[in-house]
Amino acid sequence: MNVYRIDVSGRTVKKEKLPQSYRLLGARGLVSSIIAAEVDPTCDPLGPKNKLVFGTGLFAGTSVSSSSRTSVGTKSPLTGGIKESSAGGPAGLYLGKLGIKAIIIEGAPQDDQWHYLKIDKDGAALLPAGELAGLGCYDACKKLQKKYGNKCSIFVIGQAGEHKMFAANIAATDKEGVPTRQFGRGGVGAVMGAKKIKAVVIDGADVGYVQPLDKEAVKNASKKFAQGLLKNPVSGNALPKYGTAVLVNIINNVGALPTRNFSAGTFEEVNQISGEAMTELQTKRGGKVGHACTPGCVIRCSNIYLDKDGNEITGGFEYESICLLGSNLGIGNLDDIAHLNRLCDDYGLDTIEVGAAIGIAMEAGILLFGSFAAAKEAIHSIARGDVLGRVLGQGAKVTGQVFGINRIPVVKGQAMAAYDPRGIKGMGAIYAVTPMGADHTAGPSCTTFIKAKPEEQVSLAKEYHIKATALDNTGLCRFCSYSVFNDPDTLHALLELIKGYYNIEITTDDFWNWGKKILHIELDFNKKAGFTVEANRIPEFMHTEELRPNEVVFDIPNEELDNILKF
Ligand code: SF4
Repeated sequence: MNVYRIDVSGRTVKKEKLPQSYRLLGARGLVSSIIAAEVDPTCDPLGPKNKLVFGTGLFAGTSVSSSSRTSVGTKSPLTGGIKESSAGGPAGLYLGKLGIKAIIIEGAPQDDQWHYLKIDKDGAALLPAGELAGLGCYDACKKLQKKYGNKCSIFVIGQAGEHKMFAANIAATDKEGVPTRQFGRGGVGAVMGAKKIKAVVIDGADVGYVQPLDKEAVKNASKKFAQGLLKNPVSGNALPKYGTAVLVNIINNVGALPTRNFSAGTFEEVNQISGEAMTELQTKRGGKVGHACTPGCVIRCSNIYLDKDGNEITGGFEYESICLLGSNLGIGNLDDIAHLNRLCDDYGLDTIEVGAAIGIAMEAGILLFGSFAAAKEAIHSIARGDVLGRVLGQGAKVTGQVFGINRIPVVKGQAMAAYDPRGIKGMGAIYAVTPMGADHTAGPSCTTFIKAKPEEQVSLAKEYHIKATALDNTGLCRFCSYSVFNDPDTLHALLELIKGYYNIEITTDDFWNWGKKILHIELDFNKKAGFTVEANRIPEFMHTEELRPNEVVFDIPNEELDNILKF
């Protein structure tokens, strides 16, 4: 396997062999290891010493279900610590087929010219992107697809990334070529903008699949793995039927649905924004639920959302976005929320960070709660780079500081996802301790915590913080966790796949220990960047302000949070 190293200072492109020591690292494990090895933890995230690394998983380029997610790693401008963010779409599949394990973008541009990176079977080249500058992700992709065809996969930044805003994401195209998949968190788009790279085009659809060493064993294991995913009631039924929006009602029922800037845990218009409502509406309109963002995913949690006239508004319309751009803003109309989601995808913005920032601006009285028009105009202002947009585009923490609001739902400067930690305390523990900032994907699914007793929350957070990190090393979609964590047959099939592709036998313990090793690398980076245990805390207001209607506070003691990281 190979690595492309792109130095934007001299506009050089080098192909290197992947070091042997990185062979069993994939996705999060790979990008975090490269960042830790090559980036000064104290550097300016938007300066020349920071790097942006795309890395594929262990099964990239194969037909293993849900295996072609790509990770991006960097030092985050939002948190100041190490960052890994992952996205779906076929890019990982194509990179794997092309034999590319990682793309490292480094250095600092010497002028104001934008470029894009084109990768295909003949090599890689940095090309001028003049005509793409200033475009949103949708238009930029259309222009690139006109040139290279619809089969290529694209990573792209919008106006927010060009403005180097801390809420900027990097979009990835789905299998239809639409930029609906997102490397969402931590301001990774700002780092790409600082390197003046507008897009990465990957042309690998027509290259053959990676062949395993043991074809028969892999064929059987792959089948068993897919069967395990389909047998699980969440990954085999709820997600394809309702998408992640199935969580809207579940989280509302336990009183943890962030509503009006985390001031309540239930939303009076929940029935209009639920997964059930979305499936019913989209079935009538001819939209699609049960959509696979990447070829071969059997879970198919994604969707294509149409308006009443049958025109596509958005895709990959997730629970997190529905909550942060919906209930958190007091907006209870799915079409309106879908429009906000589309704008964020087009401008290259993290829906969670922007939803949290606008919620704070609404609490400050700058914008009106419940006003779709105000939220829409606020997102436009981020893309334009107006003064208000510049504030909101820096995320929830800066917005709260500028407008004097104390209810700022962040950890390590990153906005919380759609689970109020007062209502789901184990999720709060995960938000607190993960090296990534408040990240809901760093532990088990929220339902694991919901089903557990109060006294089990911390031990579950500790166990699954490690297990989720191990799974992240594979590049498998996190929705495989429902089966991998709970069904020994699926886990066994996964270990068989590793054996079949890498000719190495590992035990279950070896596999979970990958999680510990990766976490140690990331925690060490953050320590060198200046983080102390005080960074691993839930905001003070959540300890004192009771969340309506269940009147609960976050009450896991700090010492117990600290113990989660003792392994
Ligand atoms: S489960 Fe959903 S997000 Fe994961 S790879 Fe499949 S369609 Fe994409």
